[in-house]
Amino acid sequence: MIVANNRNLLRETVQAWRNQQLKIGFVPTMGNLHAGHLALVKEAQQHCDRVIVSIFVNPTQFGPCEDFERYPRTEQQDCQLLKGCRTDLVYLPTERQLYPTGRTTQTQIVPAYADILCGAHRPGHFSGVALVVIKLFNLVQPDVAVFGQKDYQQLTMLRRMTEELNFPIEIIGAPIVREEDGLAFSSRNQYLTEQEREVAPFLYQTLTNVRDKVLSAQLNFSLIIKESSNLLEEKGFKVEYLEIRDAVDLSVASGEHKEVTILVAAYLGKTRLIDNLSFTLNNEI
Ligand code: AMP
Repeated sequence: MIVANNRNLLRETVQAWRNQQLKIGFVPTMGNLHAGHLALVKEAQQHCDRVIVSIFVNPTQFGPCEDFERYPRTEQQDCQLLKGCRTDLVYLPTERQLYPTGRTTQTQIVPAYADILCGAHRPGHFSGVALVVIKLFNLVQPDVAVFGQKDYQQLTMLRRMTEELNFPIEIIGAPIVREEDGLAFSSRNQYLTEQEREVAPFLYQTLTNVRDKVLSAQLNFSLIIKESSNLLEEKGFKVEYLEIRDAVDLSVASGEHKEVTILVAAYLGKTRLIDNLSFTLNNEI
């Protein structure tokens, strides 16, 4: 596995692969890798001849009171894991390389879906994500980029951005990888206390309950959501949002929609967890 700390080695390697007509896949991450990230690498390997993973904790996607400073940084362990699953190149840019003129760039990106759901609670978050992904796309120039459905709104936004900005890159969404008890793998799960960790799987159970209720022909979405939200609060979650949205464009869903996604964000203690579940409404006439 090539470890590239600078863009020259990255660019030279990519160029050499291009000369050999190899298809290049890219998996951007913030490190502290877990089974969810490794599944993205495997997904990329299915579609490509070479796979590049980047590790960079992107400051511009964190709000001023968020966990940028304490976000877990485990570079050596990450590199071992990546080597173990036959990653071809890991790109470890410094902040200076990615933000040569500083964090406050004059070029501002306002992507689609930036002010709904997570965006409404994390102002500027999706601008920061879009900015760093554009930078990474320009530096890596992959054929394919793989993102997790775990961050459903992010994936939806990036698909739209890639299309609207004409990046010649295929975006692939990979399924959510979960612990045995249903909790989606996340680098932030380690912030949970033992007691919170026991309660955490209730988030995914709530999503499956909402889906089951909707599918058992109860099309009163708002009532189901209200009841489920209350149950989450009773369990100790502080719910930011629990909503049913169109799976493609994230518009507010009704019984008329076909493919929908239930999205949730909730705090458990100091830890913010997100999850989602997509399904098809059985509303054929
Ligand atoms: P992060 O390092 O948290 O920025 O995540 C990097 C990529 O991994 C993003 O595309 C995430 O959506 C994806 N990811 C994170 N957790 C999971 C998971 N449990 N299952 C699938 N993909 C995930």
